[in-house]
Amino acid sequence: MAPNFAKKEYQFLRELGLAPRNQGCYGSGVWRGHGPTVTSINPANNQPIAEVVEASIEDYEESMVACAEAAKLWMQIPAPKRGEIVRQIGDALRTKVQHLGRLVSLEMGKILPEGIGEVQEIIDMCDYAVGLSRQLNGSIIPSERPNHMMMEVWNPLGVVGVITAFNFPCAVLGWNACIALVCGNTVVWKGAPTTPLITIAMTNLVAEVLEKNNLPGAIFTTFCGGAEIGQAIAHDTRIPLVSFTGSSKVGQFVQQTVNRRFGKCLLELSGNNAIIVMDDADIQLAVRSVLFAAVGTAGQRCTTCRRLLLHETIYQTVLDQLVEAYKQVKVGDPLEKATLLGPLHTPASKVNFEKGIDIIKSQGGKILTGGSSIESEGNFVQPTIVEISPDAPIVKEELFGPVLYVLKFQTLKEAIEINNSVPQGLSSSIFTRRPEVIFRWIGPLGSDCGIVNVNIPTNGAEIGGAFGGEKATGGGREAGSDSWKQYMRRSTCTINYGSELPLAQGINFG
Ligand code: NAD
Repeated sequence: MAPNFAKKEYQFLRELGLAPRNQGCYGSGVWRGHGPTVTSINPANNQPIAEVVEASIEDYEESMVACAEAAKLWMQIPAPKRGEIVRQIGDALRTKVQHLGRLVSLEMGKILPEGIGEVQEIIDMCDYAVGLSRQLNGSIIPSERPNHMMMEVWNPLGVVGVITAFNFPCAVLGWNACIALVCGNTVVWKGAPTTPLITIAMTNLVAEVLEKNNLPGAIFTTFCGGAEIGQAIAHDTRIPLVSFTGSSKVGQFVQQTVNRRFGKCLLELSGNNAIIVMDDADIQLAVRSVLFAAVGTAGQRCTTCRRLLLHETIYQTVLDQLVEAYKQVKVGDPLEKATLLGPLHTPASKVNFEKGIDIIKSQGGKILTGGSSIESEGNFVQPTIVEISPDAPIVKEELFGPVLYVLKFQTLKEAIEINNSVPQGLSSSIFTRRPEVIFRWIGPLGSDCGIVNVNIPTNGAEIGGAFGGEKATGGGREAGSDSWKQYMRRSTCTINYGSELPLAQGINFG
């Protein structure tokens, strides 16, 4: 298919440094590409947008030499000065937020406010990282030995690898790169193979800032490509930390590869998130939240609500309101203002949705609304609500689309058990006003997820908290709080400033 770049509505892409045909490897500060040529496709009509020549393994090797070399320079620049570079990246993003948000919407398929929101999230991360660059503090620890001092020193790791998923084609890069950079690491990024234009546009922006400051472009190295480049990163002993975002299946494989060489992994994998609505809940608040959590991003967020647990006394009321709300959802082009539900990302995602509906039916699920894909040139499907038993095997899986399972419960204990009964452990939320329920929910016998909310949806996390989940979600924590510690190595230093050699634990050695 020939690229459609000439179309008037695609003209803004030039402002982001994109062309009808692009090179997809940014290494040693220059663009190149000797791998296969791929076409970026608009999921709303399956028409081509532009072409990208992906990185070859030779491109990878050459670029990685420069990236590892650049790490030696970057890690010696004082942290607050590295913060200043990240501040400039944030400012550069501010000038392009509308264009980049539009590109996210065009290439990934999420609606425009969500596309712009995704870019805003990186700007927030830049701001956060600038402050952090003056707070990479270690502790002073009292020594048991006279004239000794113990302290922790945090040093950069070197190179941090970042592999990202299609559904957050740039925000996840931001969570990792902003922190990794202020911590003194160079960054190697492989974006999703179906969102290469976002990868290139983001890289252009970072590259410009580095160039303006006379810094080597290799500090930020980018590869467009698929599993082959991903595997090269996983195997590469020059990369002590690989931050991987994607499915549990691929994540487990990456983790095993990285662990085999004693590297570290930061995993952000699949979710299967539940909202519990108690009998005392504010029903309107709950219904609005479920709608956003289950239908937003066409159900393609890791934090999408996939299971709705309703107390038996309010079951029918909530369901009636929700089914009514689902019927109002406008499905269509994600760039149009009134649209709430854009397309799924690829034709394969649409087929996966259709297969999922067949399995749901075969496992006793009753479709209450939706349940079909929509005849059109894009990958559109109906927002779907299903009544089903919590024991149906499909409920334990992550079906990546706008499908919501509704389940009935009688007691809080039962609801928490259902919440915790799936392999994944990313996000969860309860709607109630009762303090004893809230504290049970967030306590040791409550939700087993990494994100445990009250009276808000499962999605839409703020960057200030540590983001991530337990069990098959991988255990990683990114963005705020003390997540930065994973991007550095801790040296415990004991300094003897006396002339005696007292030993710890009172040992007398001759
Ligand atoms: P995916 O696992 O198919 O791909 C993710 C990335 O891994 C892509 O860049 C892909 O090219 C790369 N990859 C594929 N095979 C590889 C290999 N053998 N070695 C190394 N890399 C390889 O996931 P996807 O379909 O792009 O994204 C959707 C999934 O991501 C969902 O499961 C979703 O829940 C999850 N996700 C999780 C979070 C989170 O924070 N927990 C955030 C976003 C998405």
